[in-house]
Amino acid sequence: MAAVKVAVVTGGNKGIGYAITQGLCDRYNGTVYLTARDENRGREAVAKLNKLGFKPLFHQLDIEDQGSINRFKRFIEETHGGLDVLVNNAAIAYKNDAIDPFGKQAEDTIRINFFGVLNTCRALLPLMRSHGRVVNVSSSCGHLLRINGQEPQAAELRTKLSSPSLTEEELCDIMRNFVKAANAGNHYELGYPNSCYVVSKVGVSALSQIQQRTFDNDTSRVDMVVNHVHPGYVDTDMTSHKGPLTIEEGAVGPLYCALLPPDVKEPRGQFIWKDCSIVDWVNGPTPSSV
Ligand code: NDP
Repeated sequence: MAAVKVAVVTGGNKGIGYAITQGLCDRYNGTVYLTARDENRGREAVAKLNKLGFKPLFHQLDIEDQGSINRFKRFIEETHGGLDVLVNNAAIAYKNDAIDPFGKQAEDTIRINFFGVLNTCRALLPLMRSHGRVVNVSSSCGHLLRINGQEPQAAELRTKLSSPSLTEEELCDIMRNFVKAANAGNHYELGYPNSCYVVSKVGVSALSQIQQRTFDNDTSRVDMVVNHVHPGYVDTDMTSHKGPLTIEEGAVGPLYCALLPPDVKEPRGQFIWKDCSIVDWVNGPTPSSV
């Protein structure tokens, strides 16, 4: 008998992650885990979904805590023996009027949005079974052309980030160099933009391309797909509720990628817009509507 399929959403207690979890409960033929860094907030969200008739399971997962990641990995391995869908949704964004020094904002944003996703993937991707689907929630800010600091350094960074031979370690160096430069105050001269969030999400998008290449060379599993998604500008705490889209509308793209049918030809390793269209991550253009 085939194992019951398992889907996991990070940062599922609110916002787009909550709507993705709800959508998976509704449409995915398998067990759905709502994970959250805070156990109370996570269990409250599960109770809210229970009232709507959905039955996600809960597990604590803080993507910036390696111990938490390891515990979750062990739990999934022992309970289910593998994983089929992983939606890397959890992230933070400093507000535009935040007064924390830029270097501190860079440290926090890159640590959670980039290294948190990377470390979660390093733990969980080996557990994924054939026909696995990974959805990395990026952003319109994650488009390569958003690396627009001083030229020609920015162009050199874009070339490195989009190189088909870029490795995870080289990408980590680019992210660490940004944090170092943000603390030193010369990130713009080195080609980086003036937004930590942009750098973190470009990192997530570049990581997605590397992950797809790794899956394509993996002979132990078939039909493994990673895509990175811009969910749209959504009414959540992150946007101080300024986004015009509902969380359900924001979940459309991520759910499309999570539920791609077996042996789908494309999208594979692509940048997906909120309306599920494929956008050229390297050259653009990005659609005018965010
Ligand atoms: P919210 O701020 O509403 O929700 C973010 C979620 O991530 C919360 O559940 C939060 O948990 C969780 N989270 C933050 N840090 C961690 C961590 N270390 N470990 C585990 N969970 C964590 O954001 P949105 O719903 O708006 O954003 C969801 C995704 O969509 C993000 O990746 C975001 O960058 C992306 N996005 C959003 C857009 C928008 O317009 N809203 C536009 C483009 C992209 P807690 O409640 O504990 O803080």
